[in-house]
Amino acid sequence: MGSPIAGKVAVVTGAASGIGKEIAHTLAKAGARVAIADLNLEGAQSVADEITLAGGTALGVAMDVTDEEAVNAGIARVVEQLGPVDILVSNAGIQIINAIEDYAYADWKKMLAIHLDGAFLTTKAVLPHMYKSDDAGQSRGGVVIYMGSVHSHEASPLKSAYVTAKHGLLGLARVLAKEGGKHGVRANVVCPGFVRTPLVEKQIPEQAKTLGISEEEVVKKVMLGQTVDGIFTTVEDVAQTVKFLCEFPSNALTGQSVVVSHGWYMQ
Ligand code: NAD
Repeated sequence: MGSPIAGKVAVVTGAASGIGKEIAHTLAKAGARVAIADLNLEGAQSVADEITLAGGTALGVAMDVTDEEAVNAGIARVVEQLGPVDILVSNAGIQIINAIEDYAYADWKKMLAIHLDGAFLTTKAVLPHMYKSDDAGQSRGGVVIYMGSVHSHEASPLKSAYVTAKHGLLGLARVLAKEGGKHGVRANVVCPGFVRTPLVEKQIPEQAKTLGISEEEVVKKVMLGQTVDGIFTTVEDVAQTVKFLCEFPSNALTGQSVVVSHGWYMQ
């Protein structure tokens, strides 16, 4: 049997790299028509080309998720080229680590803008399409997934802005779950442990320097020390979880967070 998301239109932000890229490929393999929205248009276009080459339907879209006009223009382009949006995966993110006393206010604002403003603005732009009703008064409905983190539930030193933003996404998802329920719109948060993407590779030497330990110790103790098996979560683990939530057929699963972390955090 085909996937229930075959033919649906999905927007994945930050999908030129890492976790978002794998999500875009996975949803496209299930038959979704996928927009790869990223600051890095060249990267987005190359992911779209890979999907098209593999027989899927994809579109690369330039989008800075912190810029309301750019978000609205990007979503309008998706609607024009692929059709009204059924699935939003708000995934774009960066990491800036520092102790609170040394954390630049500009960095704090940048972090909250990408993770929280980005989630809000993309959600606001897609909801009119999901809430739109047919002649029988039935809303089209849809799925919104926010890329949280174990840091939506746990804290780590040096990550004040990241932990604050990732906790904030739980609040946004819960409000959208309550507002969107009557329109058939579900909202959930996927919370990965450490995944070896460019975002994490960059942190290993940075954390070693700030914490005064070796890079090997950062990986073994800081990143994987609290997992049940010392193993990194993979992009595939996260993408399969997103796909499961996209395919789930009812509001039974809404306003939740699903932690994918080799047991680092257990809810
Ligand atoms: P990544 O660096 O590989 O990819 C992030 C993508 O986001 C890049 O393509 C980048 O161009 C894009 N981006 C950055 N700022 C943007 C903006 N303003 N507008 C649009 N796109 C923008 O990172 P990743 O590890 O794949 O992270 C993806 C998401 O997963 C992030 O939200 C991150 O916090 C979350 N996450 C990552 C891990 C991990 O261990 N890698 C763990 C938990 C959660």
